[in-house]
Amino acid sequence: MQPVLTLNGITKSYGSIQALKNVSFEVPEGAVFGLLGPNGSGKTTMLSIILDILKSDSGSFAWFGKPGSPETRKQIGSLLETPNFYHYLSAVDNLKITEAISGRGDSADIDRVLEIVKLTERKKSRFSTYSLGMKQRLAIGAALLGDPQVLVFDEPTNGLDPVGIAEIRELIKLLAKRGKTIIMASHLLDEVEKVCDHVAILKRGSLLTAGPVDEVLANEDIVEVSATDTAQLLSVLQSFPGYSHIKEDGKLIQLFLPVGTARLEDVNRFCFEKGITLNLLTAKKKSLETKFFELTND
Ligand code: ATP
Repeated sequence: MQPVLTLNGITKSYGSIQALKNVSFEVPEGAVFGLLGPNGSGKTTMLSIILDILKSDSGSFAWFGKPGSPETRKQIGSLLETPNFYHYLSAVDNLKITEAISGRGDSADIDRVLEIVKLTERKKSRFSTYSLGMKQRLAIGAALLGDPQVLVFDEPTNGLDPVGIAEIRELIKLLAKRGKTIIMASHLLDEVEKVCDHVAILKRGSLLTAGPVDEVLANEDIVEVSATDTAQLLSVLQSFPGYSHIKEDGKLIQLFLPVGTARLEDVNRFCFEKGITLNLLTAKKKSLETKFFELTND
């Protein structure tokens, strides 16, 4: 399947500060993709580049396999910073203005998005009377105008209390269930684990890792193996002592083990003794927790 977004060697500097260093990854269709990293790691810069707000110094990106264009841009709803809504206007009137400026959506669409972000009952109240959580939901509502296929959110739970955070989490899950691809930057590890199925982790502008959460964030060791007869290998590994689960990915099999227990030589010997010669044997590291400490402890 064609990735929704492909990044190729994106590099960006602000004077002497290198904000992004040769970053490449893909966002699959239908993913809830978390861009993770501590403050200053380059998340906002990355989102600004893919939304054509900033230009990269080198590298390229493609939406739906094509370079960015006004046409593809229409399929992407975004929330980069808390938008400047008018405090004395209602949700409906604020969205009418957003709609007129962006050219996305119509009045029927305004009711639709207010329903999704659960603001229908308060749609006529002034923005100034909203809680922070409601304000953020309205901002997400603005991104949903025109029913774009892809949504890009920068720190969507910033500044919210646990209830507000949970509301945004549910909203993101609902949008994902409706088939939207969601790309969100966050430094909240826990939130990312709860809602995202894919992640990329940035550290000082460099990409540390990217991929499905269960590989990147697994609190486990992963041993990746393959052999000519995948079915036979799979059946043999099912009797490997101490594994927690097994995942099949085409010709590759991943054996998940409790963290710190993976020993490649044990897996190799076990398979060999059962009559299987492996043609690939690698350890895939490591837990998000470990990664996150690497990110934050310096
Ligand atoms: P945060 O979570 O704090 O928003 P971030 O991961 O989004 O951080 P960026 O905002 O992309 O990171 O910043 C990456 C680096 O680039 C930082 O060192 C930052 O200080 C620097 N930077 C960002 N914008 C500018 C700018 N306009 N001029 C100069 N330096 C900038």
